[in-house]
Amino acid sequence: MTATPNNKTDTRQMLGRLRAVMAEDGAGQDRLDRITQLIAEEMHTEVCSIYLFRDTDTLELCATEGLNPESVHHTRMRLGEGLVGRVAKRGQAINTDDAPGTRGFRYMPETGEEAYSSFLGLPIQRLGETLGVMVVQSRQARVFSEAEVHAVEVVAMVIAEMAELGAFVGEGAAMLARHSQAALFQGAAAQEGAAQGHVWLHEPRVVITNLIAENPHRERERLIEAVEQLRVGVDRMLSSAGTGDSDHMQVLEAYRMFANSKGWMRRMEEDISRGLSAEAAVEKEQSAARARMSQVTDVYLRDRLHDLDDLSNRLLRLLTGQGTETGAEMPADPVLVARNIGPAELLDYGRRLRGVVLEEGSVGSHATIVARALAIPLVIHAKRITTEALNGDQILVDGDRGVVHLRPDESVVSAFRDKMAMRAKAQERYSSIRDKPAETLCGTRIALHMNAGLMADLPSLENSGAEGVGLFRTELQFLIRNHMPKRAELSQLYTRVMEAAKGRRVVFRTLDIGSDKVLPYMTTVDEPNPALGWRAIRVGLDKPGVMRMQLQALVRAAAGRPLSVMFPFVAQREEFAAARAEMDKALERERILGHPLPEKLEVGAMLETPSLAFAPDSFYREVDFLSIGGNDLKQFFFAADRDNELVRRRYDTLNVSFLTFLEGIAERCARLGTPLSFCGEDAGRPVEAACFAAIGFRMLSIRPASIGPVKSILHRTDLGELRAVIHQAREDGAQSVRPTVMEYLRGKL
Ligand code: PEP
Ligand code: MG
Repeated sequence: MTATPNNKTDTRQMLGRLRAVMAEDGAGQDRLDRITQLIAEEMHTEVCSIYLFRDTDTLELCATEGLNPESVHHTRMRLGEGLVGRVAKRGQAINTDDAPGTRGFRYMPETGEEAYSSFLGLPIQRLGETLGVMVVQSRQARVFSEAEVHAVEVVAMVIAEMAELGAFVGEGAAMLARHSQAALFQGAAAQEGAAQGHVWLHEPRVVITNLIAENPHRERERLIEAVEQLRVGVDRMLSSAGTGDSDHMQVLEAYRMFANSKGWMRRMEEDISRGLSAEAAVEKEQSAARARMSQVTDVYLRDRLHDLDDLSNRLLRLLTGQGTETGAEMPADPVLVARNIGPAELLDYGRRLRGVVLEEGSVGSHATIVARALAIPLVIHAKRITTEALNGDQILVDGDRGVVHLRPDESVVSAFRDKMAMRAKAQERYSSIRDKPAETLCGTRIALHMNAGLMADLPSLENSGAEGVGLFRTELQFLIRNHMPKRAELSQLYTRVMEAAKGRRVVFRTLDIGSDKVLPYMTTVDEPNPALGWRAIRVGLDKPGVMRMQLQALVRAAAGRPLSVMFPFVAQREEFAAARAEMDKALERERILGHPLPEKLEVGAMLETPSLAFAPDSFYREVDFLSIGGNDLKQFFFAADRDNELVRRRYDTLNVSFLTFLEGIAERCARLGTPLSFCGEDAGRPVEAACFAAIGFRMLSIRPASIGPVKSILHRTDLGELRAVIHQAREDGAQSVRPTVMEYLRGKL
């Protein structure tokens, strides 16, 4: 057959024949062979070949019409190698009338392809993931027309879907079954711990089985109907979201824009007219958006592409009638896999989950906070895991290193089990010292309290051996709701917290919102630098309504019991004085109303900005206690964003400058008689905790899971000796005392 320039490729006819092939019985290889044959015929080209990934960076020629049949399953190329490798790497088509003269061309003599001058290669993609490459070639030098490119694009999409559905798996399989190979994901650690379990997809994928349709008219109607429903739904969401300029509104506006976009609709209608079903047309657009998403660096644009992706999912659910409820049964040991998840949804799953793996998320996100409270290992930034994982797949989560193994082989599973066994042993050791005080070798008592914020945290008060709650982050209760809680609701909640504490001290920190903690139902202010912006006590003092309600709820919940309150992010004495005055007003109000006042009231401040370390002595005398919020203090000390992966680990907490700074605060508090604690995450790390104790801290508030490890190291540490080691390292001009301290501890412990 000779190749003639062809604009008459009938995509619908080609898809019809493709469907017939798929309906036939036969092994995977036969199907692929038949497909290449029929595409070459329909496209009037001499060659059609399908290359699929053999492993993550090698492509293999799996079927061909026109090239040397001997080269099937022998010809391989690496990602980026030759024209085929380049199509796969960039996820973009190459269309040329002079293949040998095109940059990147690599001659593969065993295929006999030198005879073909024209080359059209397109990625076989599903939801933005490249599974392989489809190539048509012809002897005659010509560039393939737009219609031809489109035709191959549509066929490649159908092939990707078929691969996803396992159409090429079986005897003589041309490719290994998708979703049956082991896969490793390197994400970021957000909550430590190890978990073994089975995948539970938060939002299972929509499965499309009817890719090709006979009646385009009907498909078009289905699409229009579904889009209409979608528009109505979006409008309803918009009107119930009210006004305001929150991110939520922005997302909904973007939804509306896409739902009314003519270009989006037109492209889908074109694909339907070429023979795709309405679902397949939606998914083809979605796939293109995902492919773009991986290349776009502009955050705003990426967010919008994400919105389009979400919208496509909604549309697919409308078209297929598949909801998020698939009827699948949750495994007994579920590991939740999701693109992202809100804090309330995560709380709904609760402690049933063994672990959580997210494609997105951040260390400071609300979901992370909840995962911490629930002590569930969490890995974030596990790219593509929602496309790879299937419900019920075996999964291992290493929350310490941010690594996830999907469908691991036996050797990985057994190594992981060893690791879990070691952890369990350590846990046993910690439980055996649970009721012992944290007393150092030299006889100094360190008070170990825990950080909390959710009701889910409270059982840890008994289990961890904490002496009390040194930091109760009250904003978490605000973050997990979709409305502002009422005073009575808050007061009931605080009552439950105090009751669960059974007389142990609970330090309630007033609302710390702003920066990374944004309430969905409050108007947000667009700030150039939110971490340095209008947050915490600054909001509380400028708009005192919520703070007043909270203080009143606290006084009421105490109902005559002792009460401890602290204000976050105080940067200067006057802010504390003003907040304290609000507290006095709340007391007065309650007194007038005839409610009992707390038997004892302590009002403290968090030291989270370097400025407060240098506040006048009068401030140190005025506060009932100070608590160092090390997460914030460290970010401001080093000017390094605590949530920015690029810098957050750059400066060591045991850096000499920072330790000297902390030691100065501890000395000052000791001199002025101000009770001091440290409640940032760093105090939960055993080596850091020992060093803090050595430089004068006598109270630490940490995650419940850290109480055992910290207590254990303190039991074996002589603070005088450790202090001398720290001072010596400082004398020696070390940048961080960590290496010296570690060496000392290794010799001792
Ligand atoms: C801190 O900054 O260290 C702190 C305890 O507060 P948060 O982490 O809630 O900002
Ligand atoms: Mg803070």
